[in-house]
Amino acid sequence: MINVAVIGAGLSGLVVARELTDDHRVTVFEKSRGVGGRMATRYANGFEFDHGAQFFTARTTNFRLYLQRLIDRGIVATWYASFAELERDEIVTQRDWDDDYPHYVGVPRMNEIGKHLAADLDVCRNTTVGKLERESGGWCLSDSGGADLGRFDWVVLTMPAAQTAALAPAGSRLREHCNSARMRACFALMLGFDAPLPLPWQAALIRGANISWVSVNSSKPGRPEPFTLVVHSTNAFADANIDSNLDALAAQLLAETGEVLGENVDTAKFCRLQRWRYANADNHEGADFFVDETAQLAACGDWFNRGRVEAAFTSGFGLAQKLKFGSLR
Ligand SMILES: Cc1cc2nc3c(=O)[nH]c(=O)nc-3n(C[C@H](O)[C@H](O)[C@H](O)COP(=O)(O)OP(=O)(O)OC[C@H]3O[C@@H](n4cnc5c(N)ncnc54)[C@H](O)[C@@H]3O)c2cc1C
Repeated sequence: MINVAVIGAGLSGLVVARELTDDHRVTVFEKSRGVGGRMATRYANGFEFDHGAQFFTARTTNFRLYLQRLIDRGIVATWYASFAELERDEIVTQRDWDDDYPHYVGVPRMNEIGKHLAADLDVCRNTTVGKLERESGGWCLSDSGGADLGRFDWVVLTMPAAQTAALAPAGSRLREHCNSARMRACFALMLGFDAPLPLPWQAALIRGANISWVSVNSSKPGRPEPFTLVVHSTNAFADANIDSNLDALAAQLLAETGEVLGENVDTAKFCRLQRWRYANADNHEGADFFVDETAQLAACGDWFNRGRVEAAFTSGFGLAQKLKFGSLR
């Protein structure tokens, strides 16, 4: 039985860990309290917000088959939103999402998917891996405070490119590959209301503004009653303002949301801004994952392909098959 450390409990890491766990000893390290990574949900003041990934689609057979098991268990469902494209405050097109090309969400919230996948795994939460050291045919891991996390035969890195680069050995092919990936930032504004706003759609893509997306989060299947909106900034706005004051940015994006919606959003009972430093990945050329059999080091994540849930799955699942039927046999 091979001792494997998976760093990161986002979708890609959880998929790898689950695929390997029947035949190997797998330990997942996750720096946050919760699992699911960017497929995240925030609870606050009686409101809930999927403030990371909004929905996802499934083009590949592997992902569809994997999803079907989650759909059968009620962990994933289709979101039949009325979807609009806006040029600032003007609706340009509008259509209903349907079963021809389903838009999926976790149920009753996005982070349920991570929770479900992590259920039988050995996950060390609140544990930031700070260092990997190669020692006599294995890897010694320590946390960000220098405490020993154990010795492993293989290490699988599943974090965004910049965070993977920080742990990848200096001068390694992996670090070089990470440095060629570009990840973009995003701000997520979460708004909770006492009463619904009369919007003619539940999801909207916005052009010509610093906000790029608005969703009625409470319209997704299985969500609790209070009316909630999730607003995303453009990546360009977030990249340009990544270290600016969050309160000032929240006020700016709130005002712009009101203009775009043509509604008074100052009535929000809850308003909070989340900074995602590594939200989305630009399209990236190359393999779907990384494996170095000599170093016994592997990596996966959405950024190997593009910043999408399906890309994270494809990368993690592909790597798991490679390890399961090749490198770890
Ligand atoms: C605002 C936003 C909106 C999005 N919208 C969509 C969308 O609508 N549709 C879509 O398909 N995709 C969307 N995405 C992208 C989607 O969420 C990601 O592609 C996918 O969730 C990435 O999964 P992953 O496993 O590759 O990485 P992650 O989910 O980032 O997982 C990596 C994990 O590693 C952990 N970690 C990092 N460093 C360490 C360390 N040193 N030690 C231990 N743990 C560590 C992190 O805490 C995290 O849990 C969105 C993302 C964001 C942020």
